[in-house]
Amino acid sequence: MKQFQFNYETEENLVSMLKRIRQWCDSSVVSNVLFQIYSETLNKSLVENICNVIGREIPDALYMGTSTNGNIILGDKSKESISIVCTIFEYPSTHIKLFQFPLSEEEAREVTKSLIAFIRQNPWVKSIKTFTTMRGMSMTDFCDYLAELPKSIAFCGGGAFSEDMNESAAFVFSSEGPISDHATVFLLTGGDDYYVKTAHVTGWKPLGRYLEVTKARGAVLYELDHKPAYETYYRYLNIKNDENFFTNTLEFPFIYELNGMDILRAPIASNQDGSITMTADIAENVKARISYGDPWTILESVYNTAITFQDFIPQAFTVFSCAARRTFWGDEEVGNETMPFQSIAPTSGFYTSGEFLRSGRYVNQHNVTLVIVAEREGDIEGKEIPKVDMDTEVFSGKVSMISRLATFIQASTEELEEANRLLGKAAITDGLTRLINRTEIQHRITAIAKENQGLGSLGRVRQGDSLIMIDIDNFKHVNDTYGHKEGDIVLRKLSDMLKRVIDDLAPGSSIGRWGGEEFMILLPGVDIEKAKSVAEAFRTSFSEIDFPNAPHQTISLGATEMIAGELADISCMRADDALYEAKKTGKNKVVVH
Ligand code: GH3
Ligand code: MG
Ligand code: MG
Repeated sequence: MKQFQFNYETEENLVSMLKRIRQWCDSSVVSNVLFQIYSETLNKSLVENICNVIGREIPDALYMGTSTNGNIILGDKSKESISIVCTIFEYPSTHIKLFQFPLSEEEAREVTKSLIAFIRQNPWVKSIKTFTTMRGMSMTDFCDYLAELPKSIAFCGGGAFSEDMNESAAFVFSSEGPISDHATVFLLTGGDDYYVKTAHVTGWKPLGRYLEVTKARGAVLYELDHKPAYETYYRYLNIKNDENFFTNTLEFPFIYELNGMDILRAPIASNQDGSITMTADIAENVKARISYGDPWTILESVYNTAITFQDFIPQAFTVFSCAARRTFWGDEEVGNETMPFQSIAPTSGFYTSGEFLRSGRYVNQHNVTLVIVAEREGDIEGKEIPKVDMDTEVFSGKVSMISRLATFIQASTEELEEANRLLGKAAITDGLTRLINRTEIQHRITAIAKENQGLGSLGRVRQGDSLIMIDIDNFKHVNDTYGHKEGDIVLRKLSDMLKRVIDDLAPGSSIGRWGGEEFMILLPGVDIEKAKSVAEAFRTSFSEIDFPNAPHQTISLGATEMIAGELADISCMRADDALYEAKKTGKNKVVVH
């Protein structure tokens, strides 16, 4: 694999460059020639002309291109608005294939179907790169469908963009189709001697506590923890709802986990209703955190990722980097995070409106992320392993103030969260027996009763849910004769036994202390027959427990099945009635009502 990376200056220049490439090809073994054209300008006629020149000078070559928010060649942000990367594959076994499909949200299914069908019939394919238009479009379905690709296939790519981030126009094009505002181009590469390795780097670090995404539709984030999303930015970061919202929030995107991956979403705009429009679809019901970007931390992540590629001995890197990263660093410095890759192999790519990367089975749409693709032809035997050339002094040894403060906030947040968790637990736990208290067991019974109500109206059948109520027989006598301490021991030993039997016979049940020496057990999904046998097991097990001073004791039990549609209190009262009957008719027994 060999690459020529250059900027477009004039047509004359381009022609002479193409002639050099053709000469090189004539004197070498070449299987495929591919051009990637990156255009920061939306000047279609200029792009069209470049395509025509390439087609004329190297007729066999394939080409694909995209409008961008900036081009990367030779590891750095290009200063020119059009950059061209020519990749020459040298192994006869290497195949490439290009597709261009029209793309809209509605067409996502058809497009991915066609792609997957081709790949099923062409087992040589190892990687797919896409340039795709996607501005203002949900790519969630597109990504979801691609999970059906055979698992071994790498998938990566970037969304077309334009020089002006506020401009929604963007296009892709290729030797297989016209310049289009609504299209996706796929480059399929593979063959026995072709190898690919991918990775992604964010470098942004989570900050503070989790916020639940309680309402989101597509790319609009409405609520976090049931409050308007914008309030969060105002409350935690004092970011005002004005024209600078985008630049001010850029350093603080949201981070959450999806399909086992860290996904970043940056806010683009805050809306009148307190919602925030994000860079792409945000998943609902996930727990997100605000994250922060710190140059040193980012460079350290870049370095740590770059060194994982050394052993692969890449011959070329393609980088899909988020336009937000360009804004974050500024044009002078943004190259700092791509140059380390260039020190291993020629690195090119572009600043995108969204980055795609497959990890495991899932294709994820990233934002604020650097997606890295390394490619090579031939095995690595006998080749020298390259070393990442990067000034690690920048981030090693010292820690930036923002990084220290972030660590401080993170540690404080974790302590608070732990304290909250313990408080929450204490609030529902009975001190003596460590069982849940009455409030909590009532709460759980009510929840099941409500669930049953819902099921009733849906006409679905669900296996019964049962309740068992327990009261120690003649417990006052234990206290009076052996002391209150002995009584406490009896209560604890009873509780431990209940837990053991439940773990054994009806896991998932809840055991609550109902009052002094009364207990209530909720057995979800357990019918009354089974509940009766569990109650029997409680009764016999308890009668065998030895106490320090008191002799063996007994319990009485009432069991009942909850009826769909009835109030929780009514079910509880029936269990209580059954228990009362057990007491009245001689104690040490189970009665079912
Ligand atoms: P019965 O068989 O009818 O249930 O008789 P009983 O003596 O068990 O019933 P009663 O309700 O008269 O007495 C319950 C006793 O439980 C009274 C109270 O002192 C005791 N008790 C309640 N909570 C605790 C506790 O936390 N520790 C101890 N040791 N005793 C408790
Ligand atoms: Mg009692
Ligand atoms: Mg009692």
